[in-house]
Amino acid sequence: MSTQVVIVGGGIIGLCSAYYCAKAGLKVTVLDRNSEERDGCSFGNAGMIVPSHFVPLAAPGMVALGLKWMWNPESPFYIRPRLDADLIAWAYRFWKASTPRRVEKAAPLLRDLSLASRAAFETLANLPQIDFGLVRQGLLMLCKSQHTLDEEAVAAEKARRLGIPATVLDAKQTSALDPNVQMLIAGAVHFPLDCHLNPNRFMACLKQELDRLGCRFLWKTEVTGWKTSDRKIHAAVTSLGEITADEFVLCGGSWSPSTAADLGLNLPIQAGKGYSLTLTAPRQLPRICAIFTEARVAVTPMGSSLRFGGTMELSGLTEEIDPRRVQGIIKSIPRYYPEFEPDDFTGIQPWRGLRPCSPDGLPYIGRTRSQANLTIASAHAMMGLTLGPVTGQMIAACLTGEKTGWEFELLSPDRHS
Ligand SMILES: Cc1cc2nc3c(=O)[nH]c(=O)nc-3n(C[C@H](O)[C@H](O)[C@H](O)COP(=O)(O)OP(=O)(O)OC[C@H]3O[C@@H](n4cnc5c(N)ncnc54)[C@H](O)[C@@H]3O)c2cc1C
Repeated sequence: MSTQVVIVGGGIIGLCSAYYCAKAGLKVTVLDRNSEERDGCSFGNAGMIVPSHFVPLAAPGMVALGLKWMWNPESPFYIRPRLDADLIAWAYRFWKASTPRRVEKAAPLLRDLSLASRAAFETLANLPQIDFGLVRQGLLMLCKSQHTLDEEAVAAEKARRLGIPATVLDAKQTSALDPNVQMLIAGAVHFPLDCHLNPNRFMACLKQELDRLGCRFLWKTEVTGWKTSDRKIHAAVTSLGEITADEFVLCGGSWSPSTAADLGLNLPIQAGKGYSLTLTAPRQLPRICAIFTEARVAVTPMGSSLRFGGTMELSGLTEEIDPRRVQGIIKSIPRYYPEFEPDDFTGIQPWRGLRPCSPDGLPYIGRTRSQANLTIASAHAMMGLTLGPVTGQMIAACLTGEKTGWEFELLSPDRHS
């Protein structure tokens, strides 16, 4: 009899884990507290696959930048001040992790993970039965000021030293690369290995493949507790009753800590809320996805539509939309793309998603000491789409006992216990 696996969470990490587990011959059930028409973090994101993002969120300078930005309601980063013990402990760990030594250790791992994931996206894109429109034209870090371009040139040099190609371009060279859109910039760095896709379409393709592989889905099924004994889970207690399995995988995104609360596991995660706005008939349609470097806004062409996404707001698990932060995104756009106007966004409903962020900027992937048959895949922060496939492969390897070359220590879910 094949091993029965219950995967908690039907976001990208849950579906990728389900896909590679099902491919490995395991019998998979995916549970989600929401309906099949969910619209969480894995759907409205910027759709970028970014080997260029090898620096974790917890990096030198981030604490100072965060403190500077947090007083401006339209800035890219905001912490809602509150007396919350979990937030204070998380912020302390973030500060402790933001050292050059830790970044140096994390960067090669993030690079290897995202390159392996990019290769997995290529394999998936070659499957004849699915089409999620993978675009392999790289990413442009657009810089308004020469000062930022100089800083990004230093980052590009670091990338090249890590084996990630990067080219520094002036404004004219950038326009030649993407003539479809007018830009008001000093220049850009082009990372040719980065890609983009439409995440809603990618999620639909994964679901279709999982149906074909015989995966079972239980929607509107929330895990509210666990039945355990002798450090082993026997059943997930859900709104539908108890669900038994041999193995359990927690892919609950920002809700992972509360879902794991009774399991003796300390999984610090803060929700980093972001917003996106999608124009279905944009004035201009760039060819290449881009990041407005100073404004921290991501721009992604998705077919004939154009999505703008940004902000990181640590305000707990609320999914409420703060219009001031959405305005911050909208106001930044004409500063880089002068043909666009704030009025273009009138009547466009902003989307929101909660990025699950660990304090050291690395995800939790792997088995935990707390329960013998529990595996965690969570806290992918700004890299969940990028790292989805490789995470799924790693989870399947954990469950089947397959040997991989991955170093799980830095990713251990027990590292803060
Ligand atoms: C604006 C924005 C732009 C982004 N752009 C990019 C990008 O370009 N590239 C990139 O790589 N990443 C990007 N990201 C990050 C990426 O979207 C996330 O890292 C990723 O979606 C997280 O996926 P997940 O499956 O861990 O979490 P989620 O998508 O949140 O899924 C978790 C699921 O678990 C379910 N769940 C939780 N608890 C329970 C429970 N107790 N019982 C049952 N179900 C439960 C939830 O309902 C949810 O469906 C972006 C994020 C935002 C907000």
